[in-house]
Amino acid sequence: MAGDDEQRPLHILFFPFPAPGHLIPIADMAALFATRGAKCTILTTPVNAATIRPAVDRANDARRGTPDSPPPSAIEISVVPFPDVGLPPGVENATGLSGDADRDKFFHAIQQFREPFEQFFAGECPDAVVADSHFQWSVDAAAEHGVPRLAFLGTSMFARACTDSMLRNNPLASCPDAVVSLPGLPHRVDMLRSQMVDPSKRPESFAFFQRVNAEDQRSYGEVFNSFHELEPDYVEHYRTALGRRVWLVGPVAPAGGDMGATKGATSELSSDGAGCLRWLDTKPAGSVVYVSFGTLSSFSPAELRELARGLDLSGKNFVWVISHAGAGADADTDAQPEWMPEGFAELTAPPGGRGFIIRGWAPQTLILSHPALGAFLTHCGWNSTLEAVSAGVPMVTWPRFGDQFFNEKLVVEVLQVGASVGACDYASFMETHHGVVRAEVVTESIGTVMGDGEEGEAIRSKARELGVKARRAVGNAGSSYGDVGRLMEELIARRRT
Ligand code: UDP
Repeated sequence: MAGDDEQRPLHILFFPFPAPGHLIPIADMAALFATRGAKCTILTTPVNAATIRPAVDRANDARRGTPDSPPPSAIEISVVPFPDVGLPPGVENATGLSGDADRDKFFHAIQQFREPFEQFFAGECPDAVVADSHFQWSVDAAAEHGVPRLAFLGTSMFARACTDSMLRNNPLASCPDAVVSLPGLPHRVDMLRSQMVDPSKRPESFAFFQRVNAEDQRSYGEVFNSFHELEPDYVEHYRTALGRRVWLVGPVAPAGGDMGATKGATSELSSDGAGCLRWLDTKPAGSVVYVSFGTLSSFSPAELRELARGLDLSGKNFVWVISHAGAGADADTDAQPEWMPEGFAELTAPPGGRGFIIRGWAPQTLILSHPALGAFLTHCGWNSTLEAVSAGVPMVTWPRFGDQFFNEKLVVEVLQVGASVGACDYASFMETHHGVVRAEVVTESIGTVMGDGEEGEAIRSKARELGVKARRAVGNAGSSYGDVGRLMEELIARRRT
């Protein structure tokens, strides 16, 4: 029987948190393990399944054409209903939430997923489950079924190490200063108090991060969408100083690769998305700044106005994804929104305008890989950050909340592949109290990264080098390729114990 066990492909259950920044890398990770011969099942709800289905279908189709490939349809999506917690029909994802009450219901639903999760084990016995760190109960639920749980939070090792230091030492309580150092890390990391989760002001958030950190440590191990060469000191710190078992398997959607949940086939692109790629073809190499703040960040009208002015003053070509930036109903209509400064609409007028506005879903990884790209003005969500790293594109950083301020530190101070606009205020997408970053500062940061000066040249050169390392990491002899193989071998070997 042991022989049969050896023959059976490894089966991994993936259980993503319902938000694009978690769902997308999980779909890409499943595709990655599938190319290495694993059977992968993604457990999610109807709306989220529809989001990732095209990418999953493409990954399965790509495998069918290869003579030596393992069986087709190696990735399956197991669809379970979204728990009835009083959210409007179709709201199954963090992007659909419109207030604190919605958010509370949503997190109540996250608890309710335990039942369908456990039901899955009644019919199937996967070798491992990669569960989002937000599903803290999944540690015990998986253990009850004898299945190892691998935690995935979808951030950098640097950010997790900073969070661990923050939770362990609570430096905000002991240091009254505006600037606070995070102790015990490989580098000196100084944060503004206002950029961190202050337990005296946000006790629930702090307690939540404590639970996540504790449950992830009780897991079999943790998988990261990152690669060794990007943050080697933090891999060492995590493994040796913190004693945690980690595998780095990224970038799960490397620039230049065929797959990737955000890429989409050309036929799947929105007209704005396809138009943008054609528009980029008309621009000189390295001349365009791409502006996007991911799927959850929202901006006040005053912030949007200054950003628009900053893009204007910079004199650079730009692509701006406005629909996810909280631009309100105006973003979906042709009416000129109130925040838009005079003359800005003309900048984006076809043909030959200096700017291109995307009001739907942007083909981000394709945009970042385009030769016309010169810089990415980003909120430092980890997927966006890693996508820029892998494409060799330098960043202008403008974090908002979550792990983003830590990721900014990594990008600007440790890796030196970006310049900051100096955002100071941690405030989630439900909150509006961000200080307004002045247009001149936005212009200056873009100028630093894209300009002729030595600093810009150094930043761009480091970004290009990192891009090469990122793509190498997932290639055949690369570090992430090796980690995927080692993890799979270990899980197969576990069957014998
Ligand atoms: N994304 C995209 N098009 C968009 C907006 C976002 O492809 O118009 C993708 C982006 O490439 C990334 C993900 O959505 O893979 C956003 O994740 P990230 O961690 O950067 O930010 P979050 O949305 O979680 O804040």
